[in-house]
Amino acid sequence: MSTLDPADWSSLRTLGHKMLDDMVDHLATLREQPVWRPMPEAVRQGFTAPLPDTGTTPEALYTRFQADIQPYVTGNLHPRFMGWVHGGGNPVAMLAELLAGAMNANCGGRDHAGIAVERQVIAWAAEMLGMPAQTSGVLLTGSSMANFCAVLCAKQKALGEAGHETGVNGAKLTAYASAGVHRCVTGALDMAGFGRAALRKIPVDADFRMDMARLREAIAADKAAGFTPFLIAATAGSVDTGAFDDLNTAADIAAEENAWFHVDGAFGALATLSPTKRHLTNGLGRADSIAFDFHKWAQVTYSCGCLLVRDPAIHNATFAQPTSYLAAAPRGLAGGFPWPCDLGPDLSRGFSALKVWMTLSAYGTAGLAKVVDNSCALAARLATQVQASNRLTLLAPAALNIVCFGVEGKSSQEILDLVADLQEGGLFAPSTTTINGRTAIRCAIVNHRTREEDIDALVAEVLRRV
Ligand SMILES: *Cc1c(COP(=O)(O)O)cnc(C)c1O
Repeated sequence: MSTLDPADWSSLRTLGHKMLDDMVDHLATLREQPVWRPMPEAVRQGFTAPLPDTGTTPEALYTRFQADIQPYVTGNLHPRFMGWVHGGGNPVAMLAELLAGAMNANCGGRDHAGIAVERQVIAWAAEMLGMPAQTSGVLLTGSSMANFCAVLCAKQKALGEAGHETGVNGAKLTAYASAGVHRCVTGALDMAGFGRAALRKIPVDADFRMDMARLREAIAADKAAGFTPFLIAATAGSVDTGAFDDLNTAADIAAEENAWFHVDGAFGALATLSPTKRHLTNGLGRADSIAFDFHKWAQVTYSCGCLLVRDPAIHNATFAQPTSYLAAAPRGLAGGFPWPCDLGPDLSRGFSALKVWMTLSAYGTAGLAKVVDNSCALAARLATQVQASNRLTLLAPAALNIVCFGVEGKSSQEILDLVADLQEGGLFAPSTTTINGRTAIRCAIVNHRTREEDIDALVAEVLRRV
């Protein structure tokens, strides 16, 4: 017998129940735990072991998990994690991961519930972000992949079938984004074969938004030099400061140039749920494609990003690769086209749609809107306290949920050390960045568990140390 299932299920059932109980206890007591703790060298060494020949009981593995893995997490479940734009996750999605694991569905294609649930989620995402009902889409690991796939869709529009056969093949195509664009967009141009130099990074204005006059100048100069602008990638919520490019103007310019209009809205696209921040996303619904994450502000557990594409035919033509063993059938398990494997680079893929469907269903857009509003209100509270202090300086407008501030009279190294001390002390996890040449403490408020008292405590602790 080679089965991996147990002969007697009862001990596995007991262990599973214990894991679930412990998981709930862990979530319920997050506030009493450190945000983060460095992994001791001995624990790290435990993960350099040789490949196991014989097996270990799941009970022993769980003991090992509790001792050596769980304590050394990134910390983004914790209400005082503010370092990077990381979602806090939610308990319903955690249970959905368990259910999806037990289904072991391959959601690359074929006719089954996993595909229907994913289509439902894509339709909801399109409606949420103001895209037309027939919008195509696919779930991916994150916005890095979604931005990459969007660049490939733009390539499809520019080069069509020839682009598939011979690649970019020296075509003089140029793309445009703000200087504050996420590194993955530059990487996407590179991976798609255009090269990083094909991306023109347009300077930003005082509010860190792409300068549209400079964009027009760059396009005119490129055209005069024989280039064809094929892609404008606007940012809705920049990673450093949460700035929004003027999406309507970017859409107008893309339309004038017959270029693909993409929006990287990794977290910022969700601002459209908030009555007070929605105006920032004006024009989002005009995009040819949008990349955004469910695992950031939408609090779905890692990982889950999403690509939406206005034109389903272009989306499909970008990724479809006909093969006989994956041929569409009118009926049976091989029916139900189009399949996700023709909408992105993955063939085999898990059932991420379940945790998204359960999260959106459990909390509704109203629940997520409260999370977005609360994050922005907390960021405004932090910005106000920074401005009220003569030791701290706000280094960028806190238009959304990110606050970047400097400390007067402290060197760059002292600020980096201060942040590392806060992290290593398990107290708070802000991050650092550079704004106009100054080292900034950067707080991105994304977690639905963060409260006013966490913001007040952070400011008090920083001031106590400087
Ligand atoms: C996080 C982020 C990305 C990358 O998304 P991943 O989900 O981490 O791959 C891209 N753009 C922006 C603006 C982001 O904040």
